[in-house]
Amino acid sequence: MTGSSSQFQQLEKLGEGTYATVYKGRNRTTGTLVALKEINLDSEEGTPSTAIREISLMKELDNENIVTLYDVIHTENKLTLVFEFMDKDLKKYMETHGNQGALDIKLVKSFMFQLLKGIMFCHDNRVLHRDLKPQNLLINAKGELKLGDFGLARAFGIPFNTFSNEVVTLWYRAPDVLLGSKSYTTSIDIWSAGCIFAEMCTGKPLFPGTANDDQLIKIFRLMGTPNERTWPGISQFPNFKNNWQIFIPQDLRNMIPNLDSMGLNLLTSLLQMRPDARITARQALQHPWFHEISNPNPLLQHLSDPYQQQQQQQQHHHQQQQQQQQHQQLYQ
Ligand code: AMP
Repeated sequence: MTGSSSQFQQLEKLGEGTYATVYKGRNRTTGTLVALKEINLDSEEGTPSTAIREISLMKELDNENIVTLYDVIHTENKLTLVFEFMDKDLKKYMETHGNQGALDIKLVKSFMFQLLKGIMFCHDNRVLHRDLKPQNLLINAKGELKLGDFGLARAFGIPFNTFSNEVVTLWYRAPDVLLGSKSYTTSIDIWSAGCIFAEMCTGKPLFPGTANDDQLIKIFRLMGTPNERTWPGISQFPNFKNNWQIFIPQDLRNMIPNLDSMGLNLLTSLLQMRPDARITARQALQHPWFHEISNPNPLLQHLSDPYQQQQQQQQHHHQQQQQQQQHQQLYQ
């Protein structure tokens, strides 16, 4: 921790986060704009040394899709995190640029690609976010999307209340976490990415639950109520109930009519109920839906192995058919 808070001029408040109040700031010597995230420390508990250690680790997470943490300033009862300044979070971006919140599919594709790249980098470095949501994704004028708040959930634990005492949203929380699983894996961030994907397409949160059980029911209504056959071991979870209302899986196409079938296929792979069935960030980035981004030159695209593309498309079609058949068998 090298900085001192007097190095920065504090400007207007940008928002209240889960753990902190965020202000705009300016470096007095360089003039660079920053975001100052102020975390009040409980004076009775002293310095949360694990939190500080975790946060210091975040300084090592150097990636173009993660908001840079320049510095951590620790004063007597306050931690100030000095971040790279970004223009807007994705929630505000959707409100101002979207068509009633919904974004153009080309933009959704660009944002999803960047989101998954940021997630992959963190997962490769054994860091989980655990609280991904549109408010935590930051956008700048260049159309770059970066993950904010990475590692804070690990430093402070999964929160119930935000700093301003609002209840933390459950909308992006994976079903295994809602069921009481304590074994968090990278797959919980993938579920959140799926929820954010759908929300960018429609402008509406996919599962806007109000409490833990309501959140689960909202998920079941769309994805089908899980049982021991569709999810072996589910009855062992602390929050499992054997009297859940039975819903059959719905076709996501009806919820998101503006998304093409390849995009729906990727979304389905992100939103698998069973954590072990969810695609990884690395696999998702290789999905054919992203081909025009991963092979950006259209003149060269026909050279990038059309046979392989065709094979992948056929494979996905086959997978979809198999999934549908499985569902039909299970819910007959
Ligand atoms: P957070 O704790 O990351 O959820 O931050 C709360 C709010 O502060 C966000 O929703 C953003 O509007 C704003 N904010 C957070 N980080 C930054 C940043 N690096 N640049 C600009 N605004 C930010």
